[in-house]
Amino acid sequence: MLSKIAELADDFLIGSSVPLRARLAPYVPASIVPKIQREKFQRLLRYVSSRSPFYRRRFKEAGIDIRGVRSPEDLGEFFTTARDLRENPVEEFLCGRPELGFQTIGTTSSTNKRIYFSRREAADMGRDGAIGLYNLGLRPEDRVVDAFDYSFWNAPFTLRAALDRLGCFHVTAAKIPPAEFYDRVKGYSFNVMFVEPSWLIVLTEIARVRGTWPLKFIYTGGENMSEATRRYAEAEWKTNIYMGYGQTETFGQIGTECPAQRGYHVDDFNLCCEIIDRAEDGYGELVYTTLSRQVMPLVRYRSTDITKFLDEPCTCVLRAARRLAKIRGRSDEMVNCGMGNLSPWFFERLLDDVPGITRDWQVGVVRTGNHDTIEFRLELADSAAADSVVEGVRSRVRERIPDSWRNYELKLFEFAFRFASPGTLRSGRKLRRLIDERTRAWE
Ligand SMILES: [Zn+2]
Repeated sequence: MLSKIAELADDFLIGSSVPLRARLAPYVPASIVPKIQREKFQRLLRYVSSRSPFYRRRFKEAGIDIRGVRSPEDLGEFFTTARDLRENPVEEFLCGRPELGFQTIGTTSSTNKRIYFSRREAADMGRDGAIGLYNLGLRPEDRVVDAFDYSFWNAPFTLRAALDRLGCFHVTAAKIPPAEFYDRVKGYSFNVMFVEPSWLIVLTEIARVRGTWPLKFIYTGGENMSEATRRYAEAEWKTNIYMGYGQTETFGQIGTECPAQRGYHVDDFNLCCEIIDRAEDGYGELVYTTLSRQVMPLVRYRSTDITKFLDEPCTCVLRAARRLAKIRGRSDEMVNCGMGNLSPWFFERLLDDVPGITRDWQVGVVRTGNHDTIEFRLELADSAAADSVVEGVRSRVRERIPDSWRNYELKLFEFAFRFASPGTLRSGRKLRRLIDERTRAWE
């Protein structure tokens, strides 16, 4: 009942006015959030069990009677995982007619995940995203350019939906080489840029030599960014850089930074976030339930991202909206960096047939200045030549993972090679294939 009243008030009284929503945001009493979440959660369970073959089957298998479920915790060990999305036909999840489709850049497996939405859902996402951008100072008179990658990814569509609400002038540059971007954006007087972090660093290096232009702010998405790198780019551009955090599964948006630049505000009315397997410091895996989606809702989806809730209230107008801390890492072995979303599997398909190396290898992602370096630690077989191994690896990246090769040509990361004698890399029973050695740089 409460959630219905809130939705009606939302639709008819507040409507689509972004400034009005932002003005009202500080007056949303935090105490109503859990009540609305619970009501919407129960309604969602009824919805998916009547429409989604996947959830109907899974609830039955798990012996769950949804009539007795009040909150996400009542579902115990019931979760939806990335594996579920990969191993079941997307149609099994659908509860409504899909109109927009996206795909994750899956590198933990050779199967990509497909995520579907309706246009209405995209528009709703834009309305809520617009409030976050308004909170950062974005106004209709601002001039926006984005250099997001449009291939199967929904973050640029989230941005476009938000700009539809705000009415800013907008040009899509897409992910072209930063030098070309630099030349082509001249004359437009853009004062807000939406970009990916690794790409921004290359652009910043060009601008350092050739000059920057006045900006209101820069917004980044798609990857994490270390605080040191953020400070470096902020100093060069003399502006603030804000980060967004999302997944394809959430239409590119889970939370957004505010002027405080500390944590991502989440939209508790549409996304029910939980942190599971918490360590003593409060960090654990983020699990979320989409509370308002009609086409492909997800119940307790395991994000694999490690974060925690920030307890202290924020100083901005969104203080009623809880904040998630910056992502600390992934619960599986995936590593996000300038080369792409990496996993051990990603490198297996590169290194498995390179002549002259043993089956033992390791890849380290290290930070060199502001760049990611992908360091291949390989055991060189007797009489093999290091040069031909290097060329073998590089040519396989070029041929088999063109997206990564493109990032390499854009100078978003560098290669390094270290060679060892056969049998020396492995010290224990298991050899860790992929190690993110930039961890400390995130803090
Ligand atoms: Zn805030």
